[in-house]
Amino acid sequence: MSSPVHPRRKMLQGALAVAAVAFNPLSRSWAATAEPGTLHVPDFDGQLLLDTGTRASAADDFGHIVHHAPWAVLVPGSVEDIVKVVRFARAHGLKVAGTRGIGESHSTHGQAQVEGGIVIDMSALSTIHEIGAASVWVDAGVRWNALLQATVPLGKSPPTLTDYIDLSVGGTLSVGGIGGQVFRHGLQVDNVLEMDVVTGRGELVRCSRLIHRPLFDAVRGGLGQFGIIVRARIRLVAVLPQARTYTAVYTDLPRFLADQVLLIESGRFDYVEGSVSIANGGRSFQLEAVKYFKPGAEPDDAALLAGLSYQPGTLQVADSSYYDFTNRLAPLIAFLQSSGLWEYPHPWLDMFVPGTVAASFVKQVLDQTPEAEMGGGPILLYPFRLDKLTAPFVRVPPGRHAFLFSLLRTAVPPTEENVAALVAKNQLFVEQLMQVGGRRYAIGSAPPGPGGWREHFEPLWPSFQAAKALFDPDNVLTPGQRIF
Ligand SMILES: Cc1cc2nc3c(=O)[nH]c(=O)nc-3n(C[C@H](O)[C@H](O)[C@H](O)COP(=O)(O)OP(=O)(O)OC[C@H]3O[C@@H](n4cnc5c(N)ncnc54)[C@H](O)[C@@H]3O)c2cc1C
Repeated sequence: MSSPVHPRRKMLQGALAVAAVAFNPLSRSWAATAEPGTLHVPDFDGQLLLDTGTRASAADDFGHIVHHAPWAVLVPGSVEDIVKVVRFARAHGLKVAGTRGIGESHSTHGQAQVEGGIVIDMSALSTIHEIGAASVWVDAGVRWNALLQATVPLGKSPPTLTDYIDLSVGGTLSVGGIGGQVFRHGLQVDNVLEMDVVTGRGELVRCSRLIHRPLFDAVRGGLGQFGIIVRARIRLVAVLPQARTYTAVYTDLPRFLADQVLLIESGRFDYVEGSVSIANGGRSFQLEAVKYFKPGAEPDDAALLAGLSYQPGTLQVADSSYYDFTNRLAPLIAFLQSSGLWEYPHPWLDMFVPGTVAASFVKQVLDQTPEAEMGGGPILLYPFRLDKLTAPFVRVPPGRHAFLFSLLRTAVPPTEENVAALVAKNQLFVEQLMQVGGRRYAIGSAPPGPGGWREHFEPLWPSFQAAKALFDPDNVLTPGQRIF
């Protein structure tokens, strides 16, 4: 239905882009003309680009910390192009990864980059194919924002949304996709019904809970290790047109956490999140809860807020349309982009903390986090229910609840030394997290050391390895995760 042309793609299609027609297996380099000793590159419906500008763009992401240039960028013209490029890469010992858009990955540590291989610009395939009563069938390059713009006018929405909705369907399904609705609906990977996947063997496979279940389970939150997701059927739920947002401040951490858990257990709200402020040497906690409603049937504020122990006088209530609520970060993102802060390094750390130790662990981390180490970036803290999670490779702590605890740092000053120190701090916090039974949310900048991934996936590490051997036996896919 819609297939937007992104400005970056226009740039790629410009005069500077050079298309490869041949590959030299000896020098492992591409050529724009067929020469003796070179192998013919498959005929793509789209383009394989190898100009310096395109490759340099593909060596960046939102983190601006890791820079690995690929040998080429595929701008696919069809799903068949992705099959062809994976088969070609497999045959010639090359690596391949998908990304939301060239240089537009929201990963912070090169997870979508491919040193000396091929990056696939998934934004080239971004059609919404069919909107049904209870699901929508989309290309993996579709962004959640575009999906919402198509479904909200019909009174429907994906059940769980990330805070920032300009992420790609394929990108968040490869990592998890968490937001304030998870306590009710699970992660985004728990709300995908069916996918078309090009495995590391170069086979296009449709998978779901009913067919090819092992692939379906491996790919959801599988960090791009088993296949390139090319299409997905996302569950839709009916949504009310308005959203009322309540924010209130706490000074006591255990009370804040207890109230958040009370809210997700009672199900009073449709969305529950929270954050920590460490400005000006103080520490406070902000609850953010949202109730959807129809005009004329406004929420009962008193009933919703009954029994909560936030600081008197700090409650704020604001109404918006449902879509504006989902797109609430747009003004902030526009500011970050126009001010140049978007281009600063972002050594982010996202953690899943066991509910039972959340108060002590959060305090321990905050005690070691001076304001300057956040660079003005937010700290997220909110609970979700683990019984809603179904994707085995999204590793979470045991128990009934876990908290997402995210240090979304901007490195100020943006020097290599500062970035290295912040990444080292992240790694230290992950060590402390593992000691209390937590797990990293594998999207940030805390690269695991030797044995770190094994520890992360235990007790499922043997299953993870077995799935790799089955679906990507030659280790073609997504080297930027640095797992294999
Ligand atoms: C401002 C901002 C806000 C964010 N908010 C949230 C949030 O609220 N909740 C949340 O869960 N996350 C959030 N994220 C993190 C986000 O989910 C991750 O960055 C994620 O990787 C998706 O980003 P992307 O679409 O740019 O994918 P990419 O970064 O391009 O890809 C992520 C990984 O998946 C692989 N990949 C990409 N497409 C495919 C595909 N089609 N098939 C197989 N593998 C693929 C890539 O190679 C890479 O390894 C946020 C990030 C930013 C920068």
